[in-house]
Amino acid sequence: MIENHGALFDVLLDGRVVHCHLRGKLKKDKQTRAAPIAAGDRVEVMLLALDRGVVERVLPRETDLSRKAAGSIPLEQTLVANVDQAVVVFAAAEPRTNVFFLDQFLAMASAGGLEQVICINKCDLVTPQFLAEEYRSYQRIGYRVVFASAYRSTGIEDLRDALKERRSVMCGPSGVGKSSLVNAVSPGFSLRTTEIGTVTHKGRHTTSAISLLELPFGGWVADTPGLRQLGLWEPSSDALRAAFPDLAPHFGHCRFTNCSHRHEQGCALRIAAARDEIDPRRLRSFLQMGGR
Ligand code: GDP
Ligand code: ZN
Repeated sequence: MIENHGALFDVLLDGRVVHCHLRGKLKKDKQTRAAPIAAGDRVEVMLLALDRGVVERVLPRETDLSRKAAGSIPLEQTLVANVDQAVVVFAAAEPRTNVFFLDQFLAMASAGGLEQVICINKCDLVTPQFLAEEYRSYQRIGYRVVFASAYRSTGIEDLRDALKERRSVMCGPSGVGKSSLVNAVSPGFSLRTTEIGTVTHKGRHTTSAISLLELPFGGWVADTPGLRQLGLWEPSSDALRAAFPDLAPHFGHCRFTNCSHRHEQGCALRIAAARDEIDPRRLRSFLQMGGR
């Protein structure tokens, strides 16, 4: 949470960091948003000195990965703005992919206008048959799925190809091997990370921090600590449906128009799941996220 005064933002300008205050009028949106500015935002700055300025304007966002910030009044919190794609990383085992969390990351990215790539790491721990069965539905839906092992250096070329010349954000739970993958993708490359968009306030640092890793083959990867736990997320009904293109052909075909898709006779979604036309796990995720 940001207070009326005292908040400082670091803005990257021509490769150097400028510490900025916010112009007062930018703070007005506090009712609905946790912060008026997010990591990755492009801003207009009035320079007061070489390393000091005032943020005059936040430019419209191309994409916006956001969730509801925890608290008594749920506020919209943008985790990162203006990236092209989310690379959603999970492990095949240790820990095994939690499909609901995977679907939630994918849906959040979709709702924010980001493209989505799935990367399954630790493939060395399972058999190829397991991988085929576990992730077949995602490939069938049309997701790009990169199967990787940071340990065995498999799939790394594929991952490089997915990251090349794109602005990506790596997300996924901790322990799945995101850092190991980033290291594998750019080995021996001194990770020039830049912290931008850091919101600091006396005694309360990093409300929103991002580090950008420039890739030696073009593009960059953003890593924000806030992306590891998703917490609350309440997408609009339309945004949620759009995030499940595999279920889309079946909407509107249930016997009852107010079908909850949970137990009704003649539910088109449940029939499709029983016939293996859709993955029952996807339907479960959709309903668990509040889809209708
Ligand atoms: P992060 O929290 O997602 O950044 O994950 P880390 O990169 O820190 O890795 C978490 C743990 O998984 C570490 O103990 C790694 O050694 C291990 N790990 C990472 N990649 C692989 C892999 O491809 N195979 C196996 N078996 N373990 C891995
Ligand atoms: Zn139904």
